[in-house]
Amino acid sequence: MSPPKHHPVPIHILQEVFGYSAFRGQQAAIVEHVTDGGDALVLMPTGGGKSLCYQVPAIARQRAGHGVTVVVSPLIALMHDQVGALEEAGVHAAFLNSTQSLEEAQAIEREMLAGRLSLLYAAPERLNTPRFLAQLTSLHERGLLSLFAIDEAHCVSQWGHDFRSEYLSLSLLHERFPDVPRIALTATADDITRADIIDRLQLHEARVFIDSFDRPNIRYLIVEKDKPREQLLRFIQDDHDGEAGVVYCQSRKKVEETAEWLRAEGISALAYHAGMDSDVRMRHQDRFLREDGIVMVATVAFGMGIDKPDVRFVAHLDLPKNIEGYYQETGRAGRDGEAAEAWMAYGLADVVNQRRMIDESPSTEEFKQVQRGKLDALLALAEATDCRRQRLLAYFGEDSEPCGNCDNCLNPPATWDATEAARMALSCIYRFRQNGGQRFGAGHLIDVLRGKDTEKVRQYGHQHLSTWAIGAHLSEQQWRAVLRQLIALGHVVTEGEFSTLSLNESARGVLKGEVELLLRQPTAPARKGKTSRSGTGSRRTALADPDLAPDAQQRFESLKAWRAEVAREHGLPAYVIFQNVTLAEMARQHPRTLDELSGISGVGAKKLEAYGEDLLRVLDAR
Ligand code: ADP
Ligand code: ZN
Repeated sequence: MSPPKHHPVPIHILQEVFGYSAFRGQQAAIVEHVTDGGDALVLMPTGGGKSLCYQVPAIARQRAGHGVTVVVSPLIALMHDQVGALEEAGVHAAFLNSTQSLEEAQAIEREMLAGRLSLLYAAPERLNTPRFLAQLTSLHERGLLSLFAIDEAHCVSQWGHDFRSEYLSLSLLHERFPDVPRIALTATADDITRADIIDRLQLHEARVFIDSFDRPNIRYLIVEKDKPREQLLRFIQDDHDGEAGVVYCQSRKKVEETAEWLRAEGISALAYHAGMDSDVRMRHQDRFLREDGIVMVATVAFGMGIDKPDVRFVAHLDLPKNIEGYYQETGRAGRDGEAAEAWMAYGLADVVNQRRMIDESPSTEEFKQVQRGKLDALLALAEATDCRRQRLLAYFGEDSEPCGNCDNCLNPPATWDATEAARMALSCIYRFRQNGGQRFGAGHLIDVLRGKDTEKVRQYGHQHLSTWAIGAHLSEQQWRAVLRQLIALGHVVTEGEFSTLSLNESARGVLKGEVELLLRQPTAPARKGKTSRSGTGSRRTALADPDLAPDAQQRFESLKAWRAEVAREHGLPAYVIFQNVTLAEMARQHPRTLDELSGISGVGAKKLEAYGEDLLRVLDAR
């Protein structure tokens, strides 16, 4: 490490540059450690405030003469906005990626080599190029290579849900520049992934900071699939009319169909998936970031690095692969700290599909075992009758109390004892096997249990089985719930193209009546009214803010109109200029002087200088 230099105090940088009054959670400790040249691995939920953890040290170290921080980030499409946000705050930053012309790139390289940039964003593949490595070496020799920040660090691990092979070469940084401090950040890492990140990035000496994974402003809702598209539409229309949201679907086809269907229903929905023409995809992403109230229907290809703060809901029409994926995707809602909802519709077919995808993947048996375990944890969350958040947090190793802001806390579900029903289902599967060795799928099993006279039943003579019609007293929906649970618990396994069912060793205990099974009572698809919305935090929509008095609401609208203009001129998303929370605060407080204006959270020195007079004019015009 270069000789100790005097660093500016981080909290002053937070206040001056970003206009925030205090660090959140562990930010202060992380920033101090990294500014002083320590290595760090940071685990913080999406929306927790990871960016400041490396941006503030980068600025502090730059001001102390340490030079440039290199930020490794996998998403070149978003670097432009990230850098734009820093430049708006008066921080000299730039990115290097393949979208630039040679002249542009060379101009930036000159700035970098002169050590003038505070932050340089680059994709991981660039770090492998001899040209870039030579430039870093030159910086390093002159004591101007300040810090490496590795964003989305879980991409280095194949246990994570987003493995990228280019990340593997990042261990090179430590080998080439062992004395340059590094900070790696991620929003998702269970124990296996965390250990893997430490290993692969050689962060054994790094201090590990784990922030609480709780996102109290997000309300978790998981509903049983009935008519999923209509359920989704009702959810959006009733609770999120005109608001920005993301709808995740598994397949490209379903993405397109769902987006089209929502559009026909009058929702501003756009599609996004990796199979689309890249121009169209970029245009859709751009509109989502820049316009108000767009619903993005997407595969999981969409979302990483999307910093849009006012996404009010994330909906899943298909089950994610595991809790890490679910948590990261839902975490994209409500980064601004305002009330937001994570909604998922889930059914038996989801369980069967996810199992099949694991079974049929070309991976090793060990890998599949891990994936199955992860899926099981997610299924248990979906079937849970107790607090969802408590389970989510427990998965990440955190103890907590029931939250009061999830569906189960708000409307505790009725349960019924399904132990007997489970035994019926298991013995029916067993009878199939005895009776000719055939295996069948869930649909046929339920038909037999309920005593339904179908062609298939007669073809196999199943009306003569002792289990025929023994479960006629239960609805099809109840049977599906029983099967979901049996599959989720691993007592029943699904196999092959037709997802036929067979018994696992553990089914024995259930058959003997040693295992009790409590299931949630199927809920009527009727929606809760808006009145049940009583969770933490106030609710503000993009359209109208109920917390604002009418005159403040008018000021808010004028401020947003002004912001839209500025954002267009600068070619940046509106929230990069000022976030809604900041504008709402201005509208509420109605500052009359620059000094009063500077006291509002989110107004840093550079923005005050650039926009202060304009803002006072806009505020006074009312
Ligand atoms: P992450 O990268 O962890 O998902 P971000 O860095 O995008 O989260 O931060 C989420 C939001 O929280 C951003 O809008 C950011 O401006 C805001 N934020 C972060 N730290 C603070 C803080 N100390 N005070 C006020 N706002 C903050
Ligand atoms: Zn809860």
